[in-house]
Amino acid sequence: MPELPEVETVMRGLTPAWLGQRFARVQLNRDGLRRPFPEDLGQRLTGARVTAVHRRAKYGLVDTDRGDTLILHLGMSGRMRLDPIEILKHDHVLFETDAGRRVAFNDPRRFGSLDLTPTGQIATHPLLAGLGPEPLGTDFNAAMLARAFAGRAAPAKALLLDQRLIAGLGNIYVCEALFRARIDPRRAGGAVSRPRLAALAAAIPLVLEEAIAAGGSSLRDHAAPDGTLGYFQAGFEVYGREGQPCPACTRPITRTVQSGRSTFHCERCQK
Ligand code: ZN
Repeated sequence: MPELPEVETVMRGLTPAWLGQRFARVQLNRDGLRRPFPEDLGQRLTGARVTAVHRRAKYGLVDTDRGDTLILHLGMSGRMRLDPIEILKHDHVLFETDAGRRVAFNDPRRFGSLDLTPTGQIATHPLLAGLGPEPLGTDFNAAMLARAFAGRAAPAKALLLDQRLIAGLGNIYVCEALFRARIDPRRAGGAVSRPRLAALAAAIPLVLEEAIAAGGSSLRDHAAPDGTLGYFQAGFEVYGREGQPCPACTRPITRTVQSGRSTFHCERCQK
């Protein structure tokens, strides 16, 4: 499933194709994905010039000079294919700019979504209202994290996954950040020490930035030939490494299940 770094990489990859350009054609090959597309989606986008390509949490945002913002979610399996040579079965939406750049939104499992809202109402849109601060934003810091964790009995991992506390973190990068900060994912939020919270506040943006950098290089190295934006393999320290040696102490990494999702951590290093 695409996490924040993947979405960030996709939006950065789309920027040169879309920013400042007009959509000459928006072809919808079906009525919707996870839910129906807005009825007037094609009409409102066609002829509109893109004024910004950015991201909030795991949503891609595309502002146009008509005062609309396209809200794009990749769901479980969504990809953006840049300048596809041929149209594939799961290319559900095709965007074409007046400069002739084409982007296909490919989503085999169809959990993705496209929504359109007036740009001025973006903060109150149901998908985005109530989201916590961006982990890469200026209002994310140790004091903010300490407030979110204070007195909480919920496990540290669950708190980090709560989009109302921090927006856009998913399973992979939460596991990685908790390892960097040496925090047991099962520890109650309110019982995490101040120094470890400070380490966590530093680790979260770091693991995300590293993944975005890896995504950027995978864009150059691998995605360019087939033009697919959306997935890359970052080097994880604990995620997906059950039984393999901890990079810090060599004890085998443990996999547990929390709220139905895999957690990977080192029982020696993380307290
Ligand atoms: Zn260890």
